[in-house]
Amino acid sequence: MINEKMYALGAAPSAIRQLFAYGLGRKAEIGADKVFDFSLGNPSVPAPPQIAEAIRELSELPADKLHGYTPSQGSASTRAIIADDLNERFGGGYSADDLYLTMGAAASLDICINALTVPGDEVIVIAPYFPEYRMWIEAAGVRCVQVNARESDFQIDAPAVAAAITERTRAVIVNSPNNPVGTVFSRENLAELAEVLSAASEANGEPIYIISDEPYRELNYTGEPTPWVPSIYPNTLVCYSWSKSLSLPGERIGYVLVGPDVTDSRRVYLAVCGAGRALGYICAPTLFQAVIERCIKAPVDVEAYVANRKTLTDGLAELGYEFIEPQGAFYLWVKALEPDAQAFADRAKAHELLLVPSDSFGVGGWVRIGYCVAHDVIVNSMPAFKALMEEYR
Ligand code: PLP
Repeated sequence: MINEKMYALGAAPSAIRQLFAYGLGRKAEIGADKVFDFSLGNPSVPAPPQIAEAIRELSELPADKLHGYTPSQGSASTRAIIADDLNERFGGGYSADDLYLTMGAAASLDICINALTVPGDEVIVIAPYFPEYRMWIEAAGVRCVQVNARESDFQIDAPAVAAAITERTRAVIVNSPNNPVGTVFSRENLAELAEVLSAASEANGEPIYIISDEPYRELNYTGEPTPWVPSIYPNTLVCYSWSKSLSLPGERIGYVLVGPDVTDSRRVYLAVCGAGRALGYICAPTLFQAVIERCIKAPVDVEAYVANRKTLTDGLAELGYEFIEPQGAFYLWVKALEPDAQAFADRAKAHELLLVPSDSFGVGGWVRIGYCVAHDVIVNSMPAFKALMEEYR
């Protein structure tokens, strides 16, 4: 006897992972330069040189310092340095005791969902959404309530969120800069959401939290910093990782922040610690805690993504594709050339273009192009995009 739900999750990997696996096989068959794999959010920019230097330096430390356990919530010195950095950038009066270090944003989100809910509760996601949200929410026995973003600009539809709230609503997951659309939610838009959530919290007699998923925080092309959600809505738990900003996705390092302005912040923080414990997400990788401690100020290099974004959007616009101009992250949300996104992605595949259909993000009719690839992949893919467009003319 096994858990059939877990079996089903293992037996059918996510659409993104399936496409990535297909791409690896196809590259082995016909050559890597002939396959245009836009499936995965694996950064193409190398990690900054400070990371390798820190690893070299740290490798001289005695084994217990390098490989030993830290406290479950992470080393106090690393958490203090992260808190100082957040205070410098955003204010907020954070301390080491507001931070729980994790194995990336995935673990942070899973922890927050489990810390804030009990089975039967509801968590709202804004569609299109990162597909794993639904899995984590439902695995916690919680109902995933989908609210579509505004059709006009893919910002949050605050009145639609208000209409979806019930007395079982415990949280709304907000992801900005956004995967898959590339939107950055404006301060005004977040303020509208905050107003809705404050009123509903009051009516429910308990807080509805924002879980702010921010692995793309620094990948923002608007010229303005990404709005800091806790400064707009205090009942916000921030989930961060260095997977994208410092190109460290395989190192599994991130955090949950429960600031002092969160209602009952100590109880919420301890619930985060408890969820981390219950889920087995304790003691984030020791080496990378120490690396982050040394590299917290390492510069985030967005130049390659800026160039990729321009080449891709200029090229696709010229060919007649419709898409949402991305303000951040490294994804382009493109209108499929037929209503069935999966059928469109299948036809793209025949041109060796690996595009993720929008269905697993909760909506039909679009595909996601991950442009965190080598610039040449974009340049060389244009004839394939042209041929695909011509097929539909
Ligand atoms: N949230 C979003 C929106 C993502 O795109 C990703 C990864 O692609 C994650 C969370 C998980 O990130 P991490 O690698 O830090 O676990």
